[in-house]
Amino acid sequence: MKKYVYFFGNGKAEGRAEMKGLLGGKGANLAEMTNIKLPVPAGFTISTEVCTYYYANRKKYPKELASQVKAALRKVEAAMGGKLTDRKNPLLVSVRSGARASMPGMMDTILNLGLNDAVAESLIAKTGNARFVYDSYRRFVQMYGDVVLGLKPQHKDEIDPFEVIIEQKKQARGVHLDTELDANDMKDLVDLFKKAIKEKTGHSFPENSLDQLWGAIGAVFGSWNNERAIAYRKLYDIPESWGTAVNVQAMVFGNMGEDSGTGVAFTRDAATGEDTFYGEFLMNAQGEDVVAGIRTPLPIAELKEQNPKIYGQLDRIRHALEKHYRDMMDIEFTIQQGKLYMLQCRVGKRTAFAAIKIAVDMVDEKLISDREALMRVEPAQLNQLLRPVFDAREKEEAVRGGRLLAKGLNAGPGAATGRVVFNAPDAEEWAKRGEKVLLTRIETSPEDIKGMDAAVGILTARGGMTSHAALVARQVGKVCVAGCSVLQIDYATHTMHVNGRVINEGDWVSIDGTTGEVIEGKIATKPSEVLQVLVDRTLAPKDAPIYQEYAKLMKWADTYRRLKIRTNADQPDQARNAVAFGAEGIGLCRTEHMFFGEGKIGPMREMILADTEADRRAALAKLLPLQRADFEGIFEAMEGRPVTIRTIDPPLHEFLPHEEGAQRELAAQMGLSYEKVHQRVEGLHEFNPMLGFRGCRLGIIYPEITEMQSRAIFEAAANVLARGVKVEPEVMIPLVGHVKELADQEKIVRRVAAEVMKEKGVKFPYMVGTMIEIPRGAITADEVAKVAEFFSFGTNDLTQTTLGVSRDDAGRFLLPYVEREIYPKDPFESIDRPGVGALMKMAVEKGRAVRPKLKVGICGEHGGDPSSIEFCHEINQNYVSCSPFRVPIARLAAARAALADAPVRRPAGKRK
Ligand code: ADP
Ligand code: MG
Ligand code: MG
Repeated sequence: MKKYVYFFGNGKAEGRAEMKGLLGGKGANLAEMTNIKLPVPAGFTISTEVCTYYYANRKKYPKELASQVKAALRKVEAAMGGKLTDRKNPLLVSVRSGARASMPGMMDTILNLGLNDAVAESLIAKTGNARFVYDSYRRFVQMYGDVVLGLKPQHKDEIDPFEVIIEQKKQARGVHLDTELDANDMKDLVDLFKKAIKEKTGHSFPENSLDQLWGAIGAVFGSWNNERAIAYRKLYDIPESWGTAVNVQAMVFGNMGEDSGTGVAFTRDAATGEDTFYGEFLMNAQGEDVVAGIRTPLPIAELKEQNPKIYGQLDRIRHALEKHYRDMMDIEFTIQQGKLYMLQCRVGKRTAFAAIKIAVDMVDEKLISDREALMRVEPAQLNQLLRPVFDAREKEEAVRGGRLLAKGLNAGPGAATGRVVFNAPDAEEWAKRGEKVLLTRIETSPEDIKGMDAAVGILTARGGMTSHAALVARQVGKVCVAGCSVLQIDYATHTMHVNGRVINEGDWVSIDGTTGEVIEGKIATKPSEVLQVLVDRTLAPKDAPIYQEYAKLMKWADTYRRLKIRTNADQPDQARNAVAFGAEGIGLCRTEHMFFGEGKIGPMREMILADTEADRRAALAKLLPLQRADFEGIFEAMEGRPVTIRTIDPPLHEFLPHEEGAQRELAAQMGLSYEKVHQRVEGLHEFNPMLGFRGCRLGIIYPEITEMQSRAIFEAAANVLARGVKVEPEVMIPLVGHVKELADQEKIVRRVAAEVMKEKGVKFPYMVGTMIEIPRGAITADEVAKVAEFFSFGTNDLTQTTLGVSRDDAGRFLLPYVEREIYPKDPFESIDRPGVGALMKMAVEKGRAVRPKLKVGICGEHGGDPSSIEFCHEINQNYVSCSPFRVPIARLAAARAALADAPVRRPAGKRK
């Protein structure tokens, strides 16, 4: 019989931490914690295979499931001493979802399941605590009504219907806090909730405990395909096929009085990475109270004062968990009448700052190896380190000028300035219009994910460092200030009051996620610490602790990666920045941008307007010294590193004006008639410029252009060499589909190279190669490689031409395509491996078959995308080239690709 249900309890579990695929993250770690003898209430996990089965079989369960659940339930009852359906000695359980990857709050947990009127009475008799029992009962009805029976807000500005009832009750009783409601109030709430459910949904609340259990199990499986779960999966690339597990676990109660409580914590600071116990708790509270921001929780340090014994136990567990998992963990715990229980642990989400610090520290602490440290930092996270901070002087002035509105918790480091909006759909909409928005909420919930993603920053009035807003902000690297309790936000009128001031929707507000400050108006930003050290050079490394950790990690990355990292740069300053970030060469220097520079567009236009070769040559002669000077600047900035220069690529009409006024002006400047200029522009008009007269086609029809560019490159090389700087030019011919195109251009390049070397009496190495950006070039790579000394994949055009999709016109359909999973990701962001990738792989193999030393790189936008870099590693490219600011990301991604390729075993004896 197939096993679908896994028991944990009494110090022994059928599952293990490694079984996340089958048991989900929560279930696997509950099992692991049980096995290492931490105090975990008994329970069982229904595997993700049931979820898969459920969706494959029209929402039915495998027939073995019922009996397996029954058997496991009996074991839980035996372990805990109670019975789910028993009135005299009832056992209550929680029903918790848990997918393989943690999806915070994506699926709802139901607590206190098993309660009905009769059970409530007997529990009161047993505990003598009517308030506790009815508090638990009303929570249960509330959660069940919401999650299983579907009573929730219907509109974005609406408040939770259960909260409305609680609010009314509080008003009627003249109290402010939930905790001030007594047993009778809670009992009333139970009835009011049941009535509201019946009225608004038509469903009756089930009184039978087993019906409740199966209803809850079904709801968890059902929630795998609710809208917010789908949105979350999309955002984090979680496959739908994984499914969720269901955990059924005996309840322990944090709401049994002032010696009970509940909390969440991180074993280190999740914002900065410091090795301090970092978390929050609430006494006399249950479940999500801490996270949901209903009451503002206390910092864990306070527990040390209030209850040193429990704190001591928790602190020991903190260290035990770090030793066992060798990582920073995120834990959930509950204290029931002075006794501590662990309810969850998982690897903790962290900011990029924390990720790097923890990884580097744990290497120093000998908990992990440098290789593991590299695998612990997501390349894209490095963006956070480069994110701007506020200009300190301007912020100081703003604060002195009385613009400081409030101070909240520094939940997501960085600086953000945006216009205030009060709900997620508005945030999305405004962002689509190009507005920078600050999503401002009383608290955020998983429904807000897309709006949070669209905002530059997130500001909340309630909730602590472990609230939903803070969690998501850390994970996606958003600037966030949370729990700013003085904000009085009114969703209905789209305004907020802060200390007597009113902020309306659309007003500018700045938040500092590093300090928690909320400031009225805009504030200028300045570069991050790493940029101040590397690019601006305004900060010494020794004064920059974050930079030092970054540098350590990067050094490790460089020792393990096999791919070289180059940059796309057209100007010396870009090149210098890239070198500071670790670039080892230029993979793409576009020459056409240079033609737009000072004094260059004139001769360029002259050349295009010329009627004869002689006139064209005359214009090109004017361009030669200008272009040569550009190349000299680049070669000097690169200090001997290889530089790939692409000959002219775009269609010529791009260099001419298209409005009549500008054409008349140009005609006057050039001493030509307006008609002549106009006709020329018309003559260059193309129906499909992307596939028109451009790339090597220009150089073939007008060889004098290639000749001039080659001369500029090689003369610059000779001049720079004469100044004692080594040079390594690589001339790249674009848009080659046929080897004869390349051969035609190569002849010119080599002839000019020989001429220049002879004239100048010097010798330097150089290469001629091609961009592979047309399918025919890839398909005939064995032909092309007979001439080309290197290939560089121009994956922007290669994607356009392979998919037959014009990137500039794809706006209207490509996103819907991705949403419909026609393409799993935007193919212009991440290489479409089965299509474009297959061509690349073939090109590498065919090319190297005729030229084993063929150098292969990539210079498309994909060169800075971690997943694409991994692919480039897999197909044995020599290098990737990306924009200067993505060079650190590429270095780390390349190292991780190399490590994933050759996994290392854990040091012996460290772990069972
Ligand atoms: P999530 O996936 O959103 O983190 P959980 O399943 O962890 O949801 O449940 C949320 C909270 O509910 C837990 O952090 C814990 O405080 C509480 N909870 C869950 N199960 C139990 C239980 N058996 N006893 C007491 N509290 C529980
Ligand atoms: Mg949890
Ligand atoms: Mg191209």
